[in-house]
Amino acid sequence: MHCIGIDLGTTNSLVSYWDDVEGKVKLIPNEFGETLTPSVVGFTKDHEILVGKAAKEMLVSDPERTFREFKRDMGTETKYRAGMKSYLPEELSSFVLRQLKEDAEKYFKEPVEEAVISVPAYFTDKQRCATRLAGQLAGLKVKRIINEPSAAALAYHVDKMADHAIYLISDFGGGTLDISIVEVFDNIVEIRAVAGDNKLGGKDFNDAITELFCEQNGLNKKKLSAEQLELLYKEAEDFKILLSEQDEVEKTIDFEKKQLRLHLTTAQLKKQASFVFRRMLEPIQKAVTMSEFSIADIDQVILVGGSSKMPLVQEFMESVFKGKVKIDKNPDEIVALGVGTAVGIKERKIGIKDMLLSDICPFSLGTAVSDGSFSVHIEKNAILPYSKTRYYTTVRDDQTSISFPIYQGENLIAEANELLTKIDIEIPAKPAGKVQVMVTFSYDINGIFDIDIQCMDNDVKVHKSMMAGNMGMSEEEVTERKEELNRLKLKNDMQMKSNYLLYRANRMYQEAGEKVKGIIAEETKKYRYFQEKEVDPKLRRESIVKFTMLLDMLENDKETINADSFFDDNKDLQ
Ligand code: ADP
Ligand code: MG
Repeated sequence: MHCIGIDLGTTNSLVSYWDDVEGKVKLIPNEFGETLTPSVVGFTKDHEILVGKAAKEMLVSDPERTFREFKRDMGTETKYRAGMKSYLPEELSSFVLRQLKEDAEKYFKEPVEEAVISVPAYFTDKQRCATRLAGQLAGLKVKRIINEPSAAALAYHVDKMADHAIYLISDFGGGTLDISIVEVFDNIVEIRAVAGDNKLGGKDFNDAITELFCEQNGLNKKKLSAEQLELLYKEAEDFKILLSEQDEVEKTIDFEKKQLRLHLTTAQLKKQASFVFRRMLEPIQKAVTMSEFSIADIDQVILVGGSSKMPLVQEFMESVFKGKVKIDKNPDEIVALGVGTAVGIKERKIGIKDMLLSDICPFSLGTAVSDGSFSVHIEKNAILPYSKTRYYTTVRDDQTSISFPIYQGENLIAEANELLTKIDIEIPAKPAGKVQVMVTFSYDINGIFDIDIQCMDNDVKVHKSMMAGNMGMSEEEVTERKEELNRLKLKNDMQMKSNYLLYRANRMYQEAGEKVKGIIAEETKKYRYFQEKEVDPKLRRESIVKFTMLLDMLENDKETINADSFFDDNKDLQ
């Protein structure tokens, strides 16, 4: 039976596995032959579901029925409304997982039932539970939840096998920044500290660029429709990605019967998005301080996540860690490669069987004591698995029970932290200070949190396991919900591609000049006719290929001006 590794990202998700024959980790491509599947889910009018690239295109024409970045709301009750139905973040995530599972099944030509999924290091217990539930809803048994930076460290370590090294891993994705300090020695990968900002990512650059486009063209952002904003936003992201290859981008688009001139240079972006870089410093500082290493101790800085492809980001990190920055060609694939490696470790596959992976507790766990202060059992950043026992005595005479509220958080006042649960235990009535209760907290590497409370005087024991919670749903409720979601069908391969092309053509039509508009309209009509009326699947497939080629050609033809060489020539003249 196959077990897959999943990087369930805010922006993009990937699926990997451990290849036994070659003894290495591999990524599984989606139906577009790409390793990155956008974490976007769209509900079509015919009540079917689009996931990934097709759904991302759908954002422009149908933003009301298309959802993204729901990972930010994992573990909350946020409802996403699509028509008459509404979905929770873990339910939307389950569609992404189902798509990845199906892609893997097509790849293996066999069913896939198990998965290891990664989450940001600072995900709370609730968010981890929601992720696990998303897996269950997609029909996957989630064998392990691992931290994204741990996975990244693992991927890197397997390649390098350095004797002893201290790494700083900076994972800069679409919506989150994770900084972690990892020590490697012998065959052990140990996370020393993590810090992060889960509201900072590539999206902030897109926002900043959209802002700039509005300024450049005297548009009031607040007056734009959701569709128009999506269009500008998509342009902004394209500009940003082009700027990773060149220093200046310029383009004119048709926008509400007006011509918009969009122009961006690296220098402008650096200025417009300077707040992003300023905010990056904080988690870096925090992680280094918490690890108790100095910057000089760090051997190498490894950049992962899609935003690490930006030269500005690389330049910024280089300015902080001079000469230590390492950047992979595909930094956005590293976490998934690490999760696949973790699958190999879990299954004790030869080659990496000796490697150990430890993790850290992403937050402090404890209980409240009588004066309301927070009695911490497991400190944030404690190395997992971790277990600690503390003893408490009664403060009042003839007390017959003690109540232990269990919190997670970093505040000294217990109540200011997040209440996880409350456990009561019966005790014999005795004078204050005469009854002793033993409280043991255990937190394992899978994020399962066990609490054992035992009264030493009457031998009453209470046990609670926090992972078993399923977000408050019973086993039956999970099964029921799973079946309900399963009735909603994911579009099949051909439909997905066909839909993707229609949305893409539609978006290109909105941006195009008169002449190209004519071509797109004409060709779309022909294409639709084929997709809807043609009975021979071979001919339908052919029309997909032809239409793709046409759109590619039109898109490559679009006006993109790169003024690099001009400025270089000028320099020579001076
Ligand atoms: P996440 O971990 O949040 O799911 P990724 O690591 O895949 O996301 O990063 C996605 C982000 O990376 C997006 O904001 C995207 O715009 C950005 N990105 C991807 N490729 C490039 C590139 N070549 N240049 C600049 N940014 C890029
Ligand atoms: Mg990521």
